[in-house]
Amino acid sequence: MASRVRGFGTSIFSEMSALALEHGAINLSQGFPDFAAPEFVKQAAIDAIHADFNQYAPAPGLQEFRRAIAATYARDYGLEADPLTEVTVASGATEAIFSAIMALVDPGDEVIVFEPTYDAYVPDIIMAGGSPRFVTLCPPMSGTDRWTFNKDDLRAAFTDRTRAIVINTPHNPTGKVFTGGELGLIAELCCEHDAIAITDEVYDRLVFERHHIPIATLPGMWERTVTINSTGKTFSTTGWKIGYALAAAPLSEAVRRAHQWVTFATATPFQQAMAEALEKAPQIGYYEALREFYAERRSLLIEILRSAGMSAIAPEGTYFAMADVRPWGFADDVSFCRHLTVEVGVAAIPPSAFYVEPNIAPLMARFCFAKQLSTLHAAAERLRRYRRISTLPGCGLD
Ligand code: PMP
Ligand code: GLN
Repeated sequence: MASRVRGFGTSIFSEMSALALEHGAINLSQGFPDFAAPEFVKQAAIDAIHADFNQYAPAPGLQEFRRAIAATYARDYGLEADPLTEVTVASGATEAIFSAIMALVDPGDEVIVFEPTYDAYVPDIIMAGGSPRFVTLCPPMSGTDRWTFNKDDLRAAFTDRTRAIVINTPHNPTGKVFTGGELGLIAELCCEHDAIAITDEVYDRLVFERHHIPIATLPGMWERTVTINSTGKTFSTTGWKIGYALAAAPLSEAVRRAHQWVTFATATPFQQAMAEALEKAPQIGYYEALREFYAERRSLLIEILRSAGMSAIAPEGTYFAMADVRPWGFADDVSFCRHLTVEVGVAAIPPSAFYVEPNIAPLMARFCFAKQLSTLHAAAERLRRYRRISTLPGCGLD
């Protein structure tokens, strides 16, 4: 093994999904829908295969798809990107983030991330030879009514070696949607320190409170932002791995130089299908329906977790809910999540996996509600049954 990967463990998502499978647990851990993808999206992919969109796409992506991406951002966020030079298709947001970091971070550069941190960012920064710097998000139970960060901590994280900051809004795992004020401060600091914002917006259609604001729309930010998104969450097709990056031409050029040597091009028929999906979605009220669909599941999951003795926090966005599980009496979130998976039959993610020092993580668990109502009800039934027979402190006390 090369030294750059020697310190990497197995992703917590692979680990918890495997444990769920082994024990027949209802899998609310790894984030993916357990329901069918929309018929119009599937049909578009079938049609694209039949129409022989089966050879390599151009490395930056099918033009029709890039045009649809640019049109979507222009219409919904007022962000004007040239589809020819400022939109790049990648194999999932994961690849877009990797390509952006490889393309823009030099060895020795510092990259700021918010902690808890979606698990891919730090390994990407390390593979590029950069150093991550962490700004911790404080959970609501620490005195505020929502996940926040200390402004002075953020200011202090910026140094003369800061090359970039990675922002994930809506944020996985906390469900935080960054406010205009928070993004304004980040933007101000980026401009002051000549830093780039790499923003991961894969949950932009899953916002229940507040509005999603792409930081690239703030003054002075278009020139210095790489905006990354994915169609996996929006169209319930996480297995298709279609992502993309929008950025001013010089930044896009850098991303493309890395991307061409990572995957070269992304699956052609799925790009074609996504071009159609992006075009059709606003015509059929798809985004509003998606939000309602998820809002119902969000409320149901919160109610289930609360009645199982966990203090669940309603997320502002994403399809994840975090819950304070201290009443269950476990010493740490990993043993809680393993117990829940193996003994109760409901799998969740321990958020300490998203911290560089796991011991500073709050004692919480992350649950995914991208599930059929019947799956959530089945999880509720398992939790109820367990609580009836359990002698654990905090359990069986309705
Ligand atoms: N970023 C975040 C915050 C995510 O939660 C995920 C996956 N759930 C990704 C990126 C990966 O997206 P993709 O599957 O398009 O690579
Ligand atoms: N992003 C998904 C989650 O947070 C998982 C993606 C993956 O398995 N790599 O659960």
